[in-house]
Amino acid sequence: MTTTQTLQPGQPIVRIRGLGKRYGDHVVLKGIDFEVQPSQVVVVIGPSGSGKSTFLRCCNGLEQPEEGTVEIVGHTLVHNGAMLPERGLNALRTEVGMVFQSFNLFPHLSVLGNVTLGPRLLRGLSAAQAEAQARELLQKVGLSAKADAMPASLSGGQKQRVAIARALAMNPKVMLFDEPTSALDPELVGEVLQVMKLLASEGMTMMVVTHEMGFAREVADLVVVMDGGGIVESGDPATIFTAPRQERTRHFLQAVL
Ligand code: ADP
Ligand code: MG
Repeated sequence: MTTTQTLQPGQPIVRIRGLGKRYGDHVVLKGIDFEVQPSQVVVVIGPSGSGKSTFLRCCNGLEQPEEGTVEIVGHTLVHNGAMLPERGLNALRTEVGMVFQSFNLFPHLSVLGNVTLGPRLLRGLSAAQAEAQARELLQKVGLSAKADAMPASLSGGQKQRVAIARALAMNPKVMLFDEPTSALDPELVGEVLQVMKLLASEGMTMMVVTHEMGFAREVADLVVVMDGGGIVESGDPATIFTAPRQERTRHFLQAVL
């Protein structure tokens, strides 16, 4: 699918208008307006239950909102609450990579198998092409030596780096990270953040939900604070961390910093 041709220079790569989502009577997202520019790194912070995961999942079609419009990499994923048909959704998901807290590797496939499956099935790469690409990506995430390992034999940090390589193998234009280091032992957090920093430095557009405030300070172009299903405020890290305008932001930061 061609997408870049519909994305004009100067146009945001993600554009969200009036995004509303509820589960039954429980309103989880309350009319979110938001934009991401190409190569921007956006870090989303906020208390548990504030809607951060739901927000990310609405950006790649894992959740269907009832209200609003989501445009991403030149596709209209949701328009006035109506989703793209499944076929378009699959194409879009190849362009929007997602990394989860729980890794979600295919347990019965080797590391190489995990990283080559998507490109072979969905991008039409030959086995040899997919393997060559996978080996490059594994080198990038520092796991060349683990190509033939099975996921169960890896540490959490290694699993998460494989998950990142697997997402990158689809050649995404935007990467979504939902608490990618929250399930890791503290000593393994750094190796995953380092890979994410590398991606950011290469110009990848990223939306990252994380409690790693050091990463946010260092890497984020924009920090977005969510609470109660809405965006409380957003700004550059220096402003958000040292001079937040909203009491709810101060309250949250006091709890985590
Ligand atoms: P966060 O990621 O900020 O912790 P979530 O987006 O996971 O927040 O959840 C926001 C709210 O939506 C929470 O109150 C949560 O209980 C609720 N929620 C999330 N997923 C579901 C679901 N599948 N069914 C019902 N409620 C849900
Ligand atoms: Mg969450």
